[in-house]
Order: sequence, then structure tokens, then C-alpha cells
Amino acid sequence: MTAKEQTEIWQRRDLAHCWHPFTPQALWGQESEMLMIQSGEGVWLTDSLGRRYIDGNSSIWVNIHGHCHPRIVEAIRRQAGTICHSSYLGFGHGLASDLATRLVSYFPKDTLTRVFFSDDGSTALESALKMAFQSHVQTPGEEERRHFVAFSNCYHGDTMGAASLGGVGTFFDRFKGFGMEVTHVRSVEDLRALPTELLRTVAGVVIEPVIQGVNRMTPWPVGMLRELRRFCDERQIYLIFDEVMTGFGRTGKLFACMHEGVIPDFLCCAKGLTSGYTPLAACLTTEAVYRKFLGTYSENKSFYYGHSFTAHPIGCAAAMASLDVFEEEQVLEKLPPKIRLIRELADDLVRRNPNVPAARCTGMIAGIDVAHPDGTPYLQDERAGEKACVAMRSYGLLTRPVTHDTIVFMPPLCISEDEIRLAFRAIDSGIRDALAQ
Ligand SMILES: *Cc1c(COP(=O)(O)O)cnc(C)c1O
Repeated sequence: MTAKEQTEIWQRRDLAHCWHPFTPQALWGQESEMLMIQSGEGVWLTDSLGRRYIDGNSSIWVNIHGHCHPRIVEAIRRQAGTICHSSYLGFGHGLASDLATRLVSYFPKDTLTRVFFSDDGSTALESALKMAFQSHVQTPGEEERRHFVAFSNCYHGDTMGAASLGGVGTFFDRFKGFGMEVTHVRSVEDLRALPTELLRTVAGVVIEPVIQGVNRMTPWPVGMLRELRRFCDERQIYLIFDEVMTGFGRTGKLFACMHEGVIPDFLCCAKGLTSGYTPLAACLTTEAVYRKFLGTYSENKSFYYGHSFTAHPIGCAAAMASLDVFEEEQVLEKLPPKIRLIRELADDLVRRNPNVPAARCTGMIAGIDVAHPDGTPYLQDERAGEKACVAMRSYGLLTRPVTHDTIVFMPPLCISEDEIRLAFRAIDSGIRDALAQ
């Protein structure tokens, strides 16, 4: 069978039986070729027909050290040959002990000290919300704190609780009434303006620190995290950081909260924890929170939450190897010139490409807007971002828009400066091919 015949079989089977996330299935496979990704090496992906592309969005914001990094592959292989899965319910395992110890070691002593593992970003948020809620319920005088404050246009995952925090109407409006009680604010000023009676019922404030991903990669004002910390401290409100996207070097530091030296009460990480190789998530919290769940058996204060694959050994092995790579290859130390180059090339794109009115860069992340040359926004139905991304494929780049008119460039951290230049040429050409009149 030729690669083409094999690919067509896979595509037919996909159309017959598969259902893709966030995908208008009625259009799937109709307007653009259904690529079947077959392998990867470093920042490069290869499809089932042998064509190569730069992984321009780190395989949906997860990959950190590139694909098939030998160090991580070897750790996974070794662990698979030892044991693939054992239960974390009633038993422990060495890798989880080591990984938890290592994760808390990145924060000042006696701040974040406890790690609750789960499977993905949504469940990391879900566990933080439930812990925040339950810990107040179990604190005399604080039982009424069952409300959450989140930010407009935020995104925190798709399970019902995490989704109910979300500030993007398209994703949650139809499920209103399910999930948490949530008030959305746009800024710290909005937060301060909330009625005192409401603030007395708030369990936690949740934020994607430094940059909101799904909100077109929009950075927050510098100093905001410190203000939030002060605000929450004065009112016994927990501060919850969703570092699912920002964690593991994406913003230039290991965690985004390190830009302002602010430690939350809960820090959720997932995507890049295993360098994006396997699902694994962690919710870090403080000893003060942890202690609220201690008690006798009949006091019934335990955190009754968990998943079959909690602290999956292969994920833990991948995460440990990924953190080794950070140290051995001095990954963070090598980022500043790449970060500067991404900003330069993004600014250059805005200057030279008439369909690009603006671009926002934070660390290794760029959000690139597209609009008509006279500045008029595209209508959602025009799907301009999507068309531009499809056109970029023929220049060797894969990425996706995050809204209908913002394109994301967020490569694995190991990308070289030459590969960054290549990617920006593909972005420029793709936008011109798809959108220039
Ligand atoms: C991706 C993402 C999530 C959800 O993580 P999943 O692993 O997809 O469940 C939550 N918060 C942020 C900021 C994210 O980018």
C-alpha cells in the first residue's frame, strides 16, 4: 500500500468514526486537507505523506523540549519496562515522591509544599476549586465562602467546574446554571469595586498569571499579581493561579508567577509538565490548606477526589526527565535571544504585512492579529485566521488561530533562531496567500 492509499483509509475511518475537540464536524475534512500527523523530531512534525512542518503551536501549547527528545523517551521507555501504572489510591510510588519534592523545590521554602496530582489542566483546576471550596466549608466562620471570581475572557478548561469559570461565552453560555457560582471582572479595579457582602462569600480568585491565552494572548499589566495577592490576603480569599499554559518556561521563567515573585495559594500546572509527552497535571498548594483536610476518620474532612490514573508513573518519569533537560541543557538561560527575535519578527510583520494590524508577544508566545488592510475586523464566518493557518502549511508551518482572527505562534522552547525566522516567513506568506486581495 502506498502512503497515499494508507492515508486515505485513515481519513475515511476518521470521517466515519472520530469526533474532534472544538471542531465544527460538519465542515471537518471539507475545506482543508485532513492531515494525519505521523512522527516528530525536535520542533518538526511529519505527516503520513512525509511532509515536514515546524510545530508552530507546540502541539496545542504542550510541547516544551521538542518531539522525541532522547532523554525523555528513554525515561518513558525505562518506566514502561518497569511498570506502566499502579494505583495512587492507597499506595505511593517513588517517582511521584521525587516529582512532588522537585516541584515544590522551585518555590520559596514553606510556601507551596503539597502536590495533588491529576491528569490534565481541567482536572488540576477542578481539584483546586474543590479544595478551595471544601477548605472554607471546614473552617468555622468561613462556611459561606462558596463563590469564585474569575476574569473576563479567561479560559480554565472544559470539565463542568473549570468551564463554569471560563469567561468565553461560546464555550459555556449554554451550560449556565451548572458548575460554580462565578463573578467575572475585567481588572483589579473591578474586583475592588465588588460589594463587600459579595466579597465575604468569595472562596477564591482565579487567574491565568501574566498572560491570558485564549483571550488572544493578551498580557496583564505588570504588578497585577502583587496587587491581587495583597487584595486576597486582606480578605481571607484564596489566590489560584492557572499556569497550565504559562508553566515550564513559556513566558521566559519556569513559572509565570516568578516574574513578580508572587506565590498563590493554589498553582495548577499540566500541559508542559511532561514536556507535553503524556497527560499529567499537578495542583500545588500550601500546608495551611492541607491542614484543613486533616482530622479523625469520623470528622470526614478528607478530600474525596481522584482519578484512576492519578500520578501516572509514566507521566511522572517524563516530567522528571523534562525537568532534568531544563537543567542539563540550560533551557531557560538560552531563551532571551529567542524571545527578542520573536518580538522583532512580530513587530516586523506588523510593519510589513498589511493584513496584520497588531501582534502581542510574551516570552516565547506571540498572538498575531489579522484584519482587512484598512483595519476592519474580519467577521467570524470569514474564518480568516483559520484560512491563513491552512495556507501556512505549504510553507512548512502548523499552527492554529486562538480566536477567528488571532494566530498563535508558540513553538517548543528548543526552537533555533533559524527555525524561528523560517516560521515567521511561513506566517507572512500564509497570511498573504489567504488574505491579501
Ligand atoms: C489548556 C488550558 C487548560 C485546560 O487544560 P487541559 O489539559 O486541556 O484540560 C486550562 N487552563 C489554561 C490556561 C489552558 O491553557
